[in-house]
Amino acid sequence: MTSANLPGHPFVHYRRGTLCVEGVELGALAREHGTPLFVYSKAAMLAALGAYQRGFTGRKAQVCYAMKANSTLGVLQVFAQAGCGFDIVSGGELARVIAAGGDARKVIFSGVGKTRAEMRQALQAGIGCFNVESEAELDVLNAVAVEHGSTAPISIRVNPNVDPKTHPYISTGLKGNKFGVAHERTLETYQRAARLPGLRIVGIDCHIGSQITDSAPYLDALDRMLDLVTAIEAHGIPLEHIDLGGGLGIDYNGDTPPAADALWAQLLAKLDARGFGERKLMIEPGRSLVGNAGVCVTEVLYLKPGEHKNFCVVDAAMNDLPRPAMYQAFHRIVPLQEHTERSALLCDVVGPVCESGDWIGRDRQISAQAGEHLAVLSAGAYCVSMSSNYNSRPRAAELLVDGDAVHVLRPRESVAQLFAGEMLR
Ligand SMILES: *Cc1c(COP(=O)(O)O)cnc(C)c1O
Repeated sequence: MTSANLPGHPFVHYRRGTLCVEGVELGALAREHGTPLFVYSKAAMLAALGAYQRGFTGRKAQVCYAMKANSTLGVLQVFAQAGCGFDIVSGGELARVIAAGGDARKVIFSGVGKTRAEMRQALQAGIGCFNVESEAELDVLNAVAVEHGSTAPISIRVNPNVDPKTHPYISTGLKGNKFGVAHERTLETYQRAARLPGLRIVGIDCHIGSQITDSAPYLDALDRMLDLVTAIEAHGIPLEHIDLGGGLGIDYNGDTPPAADALWAQLLAKLDARGFGERKLMIEPGRSLVGNAGVCVTEVLYLKPGEHKNFCVVDAAMNDLPRPAMYQAFHRIVPLQEHTERSALLCDVVGPVCESGDWIGRDRQISAQAGEHLAVLSAGAYCVSMSSNYNSRPRAAELLVDGDAVHVLRPRESVAQLFAGEMLR
């Protein structure tokens, strides 16, 4: 039997035909903790972070993990302990950072719809930067800061109008997107911000999309950002940092994104060539730090052969793994036990939820029988954090593997928890 790593998943491998995360067999975890079950590799997260940190050796740079990718406290703790800051998009996420032991001063607050209450909460906590997404938001943040008796550190999120060539739902830097301030209005917006007493300008920001597998859009965005920095500073507004957002893709299905350190070697070369090598850099990676650090283990409930299509019904569903239903995203699905002698059935892997959109994989070769387990790969990002209780399904358990050790990050939710806060009249 093989002992092979899975492509793109350096810490997920078959050992004597049994799938493991680091030193731990997933089958044993499934028997002990039940399914559906998310299992994360701490080493994989730190290796992904390490690629960015290597890329920034000798530079002034801060990695802010975009925690909406996976906001489980135990995951945040791994990154907080490794020195990461956090890119947040809500007051709820800020509360999670603080609960996980993160440093509020390394928090940047993104998002088009920050409320006054969230602005107050973030000012109170002393976050590092608000990434402001509109002129209207500038005015509101100014008023909240003046009332609070402080000044809000800000960047303006620019929409650089470059096409990241990714799925339309996850491309954010094009003209038709709701995100950021239009490239042409950036200078005026900075001039307006500079006149407001409750604001302190610290940087400039962009984020062009997600699951980007090519360095060209980043290089284009950087050129446009540096043109803007030059223009803004020529008007007497200094910028301490340049934030290039997140968005680097991962290998879901043979995708070949650049490695983080290789991408940054290219970007840093451009920064140096244009005389910005000393500038502090901020980045906001999400998916690329956690996506391939996690798998979801699920049990095959039924094989359902059909005239037109065969189905493999599993106990994980769109409420646990929403990406296929939301973006027709692809996750590799592999058996926990390799059975080289068995024949496979071509089928759609589907969950129990009452929606035709509830599929996890289409037209897959599945050799597992009912009662056996499958692993859905690349399940560390945008799975649990997007999960729901649709169909009154409790959320799955989450475990962190660290070498041979296993830590429960979130026990399986109970049905009683689902309606504990509800009332009858
Ligand atoms: C979602 C998001 C990110 C992270 O994107 P990934 O594709 O997960 O790296 C970074 N910055 C902002 C503003 C975001 O909304």
